[in-house]
Amino acid sequence: MPIQDCPLCGGPAAFSGHDYGRRKGYSCQNCTEFIVTLSAEARLKESMQSWKDAIIEKTKTTPGGQILLIYVPDQHQPDALNKKVLSAVYQPRES
Ligand SMILES: [Zn+2]
Repeated sequence: MPIQDCPLCGGPAAFSGHDYGRRKGYSCQNCTEFIVTLSAEARLKESMQSWKDAIIEKTKTTPGGQILLIYVPDQHQPDALNKKVLSAVYQPRES
């Protein structure tokens, strides 16, 4: 797999494309494995390290059989009042 700077910790991480290039699956020695959408990846580059550290904590505690998906919530939904910049949820691993 190609190697790129990890969007969370900046260390070297292997990645592969998912979902026709709209998401990337990362495998990082520090942050373990996670999936990030391209829009979330761009936003992570502008995010404070404290936010990234909070997400790293979630990746490290991912339950077995699941993987963390990091994405930008839909800002157009009426319940998006708090305008969260990034969300991270566990989802079942695709086999
Ligand atoms: Zn990392």
